[in-house]
Amino acid sequence: MRYKKLGKTGLKVSELSFGASSLGEEYGPIEPAEGERAVHYAINKGINYFDVAPYYGGTLAETRLGQALVGRRDSIILATKMGRYKVGNAEEFDFSATRVRRSLEESLRHLKTDYIDVYLAHDIEFTHREQIINETLPAMHQLRKEGKVRFVGITGYPLHLLKDVAERAEVDMILTYCRYNLMDTSMDEVLTPLVREKGIGLINASPLHMRVLTEKGAPGWHPAPKRVLEVAQKAAQYCRSKGVDISELAMQFALAHEYVSTTLVGMSKVRHVARNLKMLEAPLDSELLEEILNIIKPVVNICWQEGIPENFDPDAVPQQS
Ligand code: NAD
Repeated sequence: MRYKKLGKTGLKVSELSFGASSLGEEYGPIEPAEGERAVHYAINKGINYFDVAPYYGGTLAETRLGQALVGRRDSIILATKMGRYKVGNAEEFDFSATRVRRSLEESLRHLKTDYIDVYLAHDIEFTHREQIINETLPAMHQLRKEGKVRFVGITGYPLHLLKDVAERAEVDMILTYCRYNLMDTSMDEVLTPLVREKGIGLINASPLHMRVLTEKGAPGWHPAPKRVLEVAQKAAQYCRSKGVDISELAMQFALAHEYVSTTLVGMSKVRHVARNLKMLEAPLDSELLEEILNIIKPVVNICWQEGIPENFDPDAVPQQS
């Protein structure tokens, strides 16, 4: 396992990291004991960065991850978030300074710890950017001064918004998802140059495009337009005809990024952790990669509208259109 610098934080993160949204059953029911085994297996194999949020499964993912981490918490870098919540089936957004503090206390309790390494404002496209800059981030930095969190960052989908906030406010890292993988590489056009210049840590989440780039395919809630999902299925089929599982190629593609600090993939099964770890070493079939990129070309870099309209990326299309 290689460890890379997370921006200027001084933290060294494993190039492959563990996304815990699946532990919150965001992709359907899981076997909780197997989820816990997956966490332990990942730590034993050198994965040291774990990402979760109160949103995932309406705190279920935090609770399960906290349980799995008992006795091992200090050997890993733990990231959680605030601002986006699930209450029953409803979504709730609250990026206020009071919620920053209250949310942290709740997360500490769920995660059975007394500090968070990486504290992130979750999906900032769901509020006005001025609130993030003038209220949310200052409140998060205050928690840092108090020693409750070590570093502060933002997450989201629209790249232009993330870039704008990173230009105007102090952030240690940015987590972006579904914007650097076989289906979409626009992260490198919009965001990477700025974060590189400023030395901001870059976390690339959802290298499987939220399960699109797997044999199982996209979950029903996936926001991508239909034509994107159809082309992905064609690509998966082509890989299959060559005896390759598309998830392997997708992992290799994402892991090869030079600046990204860590590639964050969602896992709740030991066999997925094992397969993704294997991709750190496996030789890349560049001929197959080229063929797959050609199949995907007609829909590459299609992005969808996410958050409030003022934050949409300029070229974004309606979800599931
Ligand atoms: P992903 O692209 O990582 O896909 C995860 C899905 O693929 C899960 O259903 C998982 O079971 C499956 N999978 C994983 N490895 C596999 C393999 N080798 N073969 C077949 N299937 C495999 O999408 P994700 O989980 O949504 O994103 C990764 C993580 O990044 C999340 O768990 C979360 O922690 C984080 N994330 C954060 C944000 C945000 O902050 N806004 C957004 C998206 C993701």
